[in-house]
Amino acid sequence: MDESLVLDVNALHLSENAPGAWGTVTWRQDGEPVDSAQLRIERDQIHVGDQAVGIAWVPCHFGGERPFFICEGCGQKAVKLYVLPDGDQKFVCRRCGRLVYASQNEGPGDRAVRKAEKALDRLGPDDGSARHRLAQLRAMRPLFEEILAALGPAQGQR
Ligand SMILES: [Zn+2]
Repeated sequence: MDESLVLDVNALHLSENAPGAWGTVTWRQDGEPVDSAQLRIERDQIHVGDQAVGIAWVPCHFGGERPFFICEGCGQKAVKLYVLPDGDQKFVCRRCGRLVYASQNEGPGDRAVRKAEKALDRLGPDDGSARHRLAQLRAMRPLFEEILAALGPAQGQR
């Protein structure tokens, strides 16, 4: 994945920037600008280009609170978000980025996920919760991989 397009929640200094603050964020590689996007900060989300990224504020042990991104792919909190390599220009967490990256050379775990996706399709129209289920299934991909590895060669070959 293109690690040069990274958003670090701590680098945005959200607690110091007033809601409504905006500017341009520029990504550089070897000092050369490679990409940039308009950034607008609000209390519970930031806008990066066309994407709105949710912000979760988590209380600290010693008072105050610190911000986390909410990943659009899995709904989990993340300190850093990355742009997917498929040109979608969406920022997601490292794990979601990896899953998309991994799907480029598909293994048995991916096929298991795909089967699960088809099963979800048969459930009927997507009301948003199916999408959420899918994100959960994708997150479970390593588990599928593990189960399949433990099962050994496909049945019928034994
Ligand atoms: Zn994610």
